[in-house]
Amino acid sequence: MSRPVDAVIDYLESLRSRGGTHILLDDEARDGLRELYERARGGARQRVPSVVPAEALADVVIHGATRTEQLESLSRQAENWPPAKRLATLRTQMVFSTGNPEARIMFVGEAPGYEEEKLAEPFVGPAGQKLNDILKAMGVSRADVYITNLVKFRPAVPKQATNNRKPDAHEMASCLPLVRAEIAIVKPECIVALGGTAAEGLLGLAGAVASMRDKWHAFEGIPARVTFHPSYLLRNENNNHVKRQLWEDMLEVMSLLGMRISDKQRGYFLK
Ligand code: URA
Repeated sequence: MSRPVDAVIDYLESLRSRGGTHILLDDEARDGLRELYERARGGARQRVPSVVPAEALADVVIHGATRTEQLESLSRQAENWPPAKRLATLRTQMVFSTGNPEARIMFVGEAPGYEEEKLAEPFVGPAGQKLNDILKAMGVSRADVYITNLVKFRPAVPKQATNNRKPDAHEMASCLPLVRAEIAIVKPECIVALGGTAAEGLLGLAGAVASMRDKWHAFEGIPARVTFHPSYLLRNENNNHVKRQLWEDMLEVMSLLGMRISDKQRGYFLK
């Protein structure tokens, strides 16, 4: 019986026989291949970073009476967060969070990019504009929700200009205590992990976003939804199916929170 991976192998072999030496993979394809690899190894669906630096388990100390004061105190600790600094693979500008400390929904991305580092605010570049569009469709604004990243520093690459890279498992593990503290302070009723990297780092999931979305997960008892990263939507501007899938995830979030959903909203991105 042929396995799903056989089709991939056949394709790669035919490409090689025609002289091909490289293929371009988008994030979804990479996630899909990783999932096939995990399955072939009989790997579990849940995965935690293979090496968690001992320091990453260090706890933060939360000071302050109000949520705003507590987040300010956490942000100050994040500036020189030793587990992240010690890795020496992240840049120096810390990018913390934006939004409402009393928010019911917390959005978690992967790491700041060029624009975010410049303005020291998460999701202010093109992916951020897309996130703003999603929020608008939900009838909320950046000031209503809480927006943060798993990793608080832009991952470094040699001779870096505007190019960004995804954070690796060590980098995510190093900042996890900070995100955990943010969640403990804000106490969101629902968490949205934006993209596979955030889902992996926060929820320990592995595989393609397509296999993680459309269901509820939990982070320490808080309902968590995984959906596509806004930058994936940017790369699929003409793909109504992807837009609808992301939108269905947001409708689930809105239903969970008892938010009013109009007929018009229910019908977004349907043919
Ligand atoms: N992508 C992310 O995951 N986070 C940002 O802040 C910007 C882009």
